[in-house]
Amino acid sequence: QPDFEQLHVEDLHAFYGESHILHGIDLRVNRGELVTLLGRNGAGKTTTLRAILGLTGRRTGRISLNGRDIIGWPTHRIAHLGVGYCPEERGIFASLSVEENLLLPPAVRSGGMGVEEIYAMFPNLAERRRSQGTRLSGGEQQMLAMARILRTGANLLLLDEITEGLAPVIVQKLGEVLTALKAKGYTVILVEQNFRFAAPLADRHYVIEHGRVVDEIARAALPGKMDALHTRLGV
Ligand code: ATP
Repeated sequence: QPDFEQLHVEDLHAFYGESHILHGIDLRVNRGELVTLLGRNGAGKTTTLRAILGLTGRRTGRISLNGRDIIGWPTHRIAHLGVGYCPEERGIFASLSVEENLLLPPAVRSGGMGVEEIYAMFPNLAERRRSQGTRLSGGEQQMLAMARILRTGANLLLLDEITEGLAPVIVQKLGEVLTALKAKGYTVILVEQNFRFAAPLADRHYVIEHGRVVDEIARAALPGKMDALHTRLGV
């Protein structure tokens, strides 16, 4: 599979059963960029990630990945284009060791990180490679969830609330990891409540309200938009 180049979402609607959750999401991300999805609880951020991956019910609109419209595609085919998803609940197998968790998911494309490269990026995981999933701290679980995706070869990363509930020192470490990943050409869509974490990392922010993008803020425009953003996010 070729490397990820661009994802372009236009007028995306998504449903869970009869519930109409997304009402026309528009966003774009290019290779090597990090964009955030901001918004209050229930705004539709997680649903946007899941809709891109084909994990919601019915979807309409356009999701163009490297120029191919993938809206009707099943999740496994989308994953094979190099889209990796780190859900809020992380999905670590509790009875398996760190290393077993890492080795379990099959590669979706070539070019995934090797185990040693992963341990160099996440030294905490290297120290704990024989520990069971249940024995990991929240931060270690989060790192493992991200590391597992990197091993599969995914290079567009959809990350949901990765800093939630973690100690400041771990949050800082995750920021360093994201910066390193960007430098390597990975592309990230980050759902994040911790705006202070996200702001220095992001090229662009999408503010979501009631299943719509109500504002798009480039990094350079952020200082002038802070008041409006505080109002929208209620923070
Ligand atoms: P949060 O930070 O609370 O996760 P969010 O912006 O990610 O907020 P979503 O999880 O995308 O919000 O939820 C958007 C709306 O969709 C909410 O009203 C939620 O109740 C609804 N919803 C989410 N998952 C489902 C589901 N599986 N079935 C039905 N409705 C759902």
